[in-house]
Amino acid sequence: MSDFSTRILDWYAEHARRLPWRQPPGRQEQPDPYRVWVSEIMLQQTRVETVIPYFERWLELFPSVDALAQAAEQSVLSAWEGLGYYSRARNLQRAARMVVDEFGGEIPQEPDELRRLPGVGRYTAAAIASIAFNRNVATLDGNLRRVFARVFDVSLPAESPTGEQALWELAQAHLPAGWAGDYNQALMDLGATVCLPHNPLCLVCPVSEFCQARRLGIQEQRPVLKPKSAVPHKFKAAAVVVQGGRVLLCRRPSKGLLGGLWEFPAGEAEADTPEALSAAIATGYHLELKTLVHLGELKHAYTHFKLTESAWRCELVGDAGVLAACPFPIEWVRLEDLEHYPMGKVDRAITKLLRD
Ligand code: SF4
Repeated sequence: MSDFSTRILDWYAEHARRLPWRQPPGRQEQPDPYRVWVSEIMLQQTRVETVIPYFERWLELFPSVDALAQAAEQSVLSAWEGLGYYSRARNLQRAARMVVDEFGGEIPQEPDELRRLPGVGRYTAAAIASIAFNRNVATLDGNLRRVFARVFDVSLPAESPTGEQALWELAQAHLPAGWAGDYNQALMDLGATVCLPHNPLCLVCPVSEFCQARRLGIQEQRPVLKPKSAVPHKFKAAAVVVQGGRVLLCRRPSKGLLGGLWEFPAGEAEADTPEALSAAIATGYHLELKTLVHLGELKHAYTHFKLTESAWRCELVGDAGVLAACPFPIEWVRLEDLEHYPMGKVDRAITKLLRD
């Protein structure tokens, strides 16, 4: 075992974060693979503090692979509501069904088999295999990448194929056989709590004496990342169509942004006017509207764009038969039932406007 690995494991034994999907470090029994798998999917692009309450509720609702496989998609998406990147939830359920159908209900243990499951890539497969089954495989998320790039002064761009390869090799080269789970989790914790993206806490770092970036004073320059491109800003208008105490919701296609969630009919609009909204809804939904009153404006930042959405209360022109022209699944929903329909943040904010 290298000095680097020994130091990392010693530090983890004392400083490991207590997380609901983990066993304390050094414990012989392995953690429940289902809990590890769910946590790893939830943690993709999401902070630990955000994930914990979702994880606990998820385990209450879907305590096993079987329970998840049998659940209705709408309850799965509702349980995920607010975590974002909804394809993760749909993939988790598809993968649960695959585990039941093809693996006899047992989560596979080898990284190659795990990677066959929807939503499980190289990083996640290695994380599950090492943490849940103690397979001797290294993994590499954003936290580990930063630690290795700094400790070993990797100057190749971290997102380039050669840079990524170099970092995976470093992670694997220092992996202590038999301790992969603790080693990977120790590095995750170090990256999340000490080796921070900005102002890393080098004074309390257990591997500072090995760290080349620290010696050279270039911590902030490692890893080498691409400059961030400007985020575009979109403007949309949403139609809150109310009739007889019910409101019209459409279901988004199951693939793509917010796939499978419910929303108020909306479209990109050239201006925040009733005419622009009517034009957008006529094009996207084949519905004719009469716009009554402006309800409010909502803002949200997605990963690739920022959105400002204006909500208008509307009435449908024509009888109920005109809905047949709408290309999406559609439902009239009582206001008190809106909470049972999984939605993205902006549409949920519109329901709050309605309620208030
Ligand atoms: Fe990160 Fe500083 Fe530790 Fe190097 S010494 S690994 S930069 S916290």
